[in-house]
Amino acid sequence: MEGGVKCQKKIFELSIPADDEGYIAFECPYCGIRFKLEAEEFKTSSIIDLYCPACGLVNQINSFYTHEVIEKAEEIAMNHAIDIINKMFKDLECSARSNKFIKFKSNSIKKRIWQRIV
Ligand SMILES: [Zn+2]
Repeated sequence: MEGGVKCQKKIFELSIPADDEGYIAFECPYCGIRFKLEAEEFKTSSIIDLYCPACGLVNQINSFYTHEVIEKAEEIAMNHAIDIINKMFKDLECSARSNKFIKFKSNSIKKRIWQRIV
């Protein structure tokens, strides 16, 4: 018998939306100020750390994501989890169908829709 369940790592790709002028917004986790960086510059250079222009805080780039971006990331992860759960229950419903002792009906969980905050 094989021991242990292998966990699948799921990597989500999240593209941070740039505004009409091609800038990406960031938010300082310390002082809360918002500042923008050019999306092109951001793509071509391998920036790991950012610094806040107001308070000077230096931190990893992912701590400067705005709450909109974080919400979107959470939503992508959440919707993916809902997909898995819905599929699991659907499979369960199908396998229960052939069993006359079990009656099982699944209702799908609805996904959340992320609305872009302008
Ligand atoms: Zn700051």
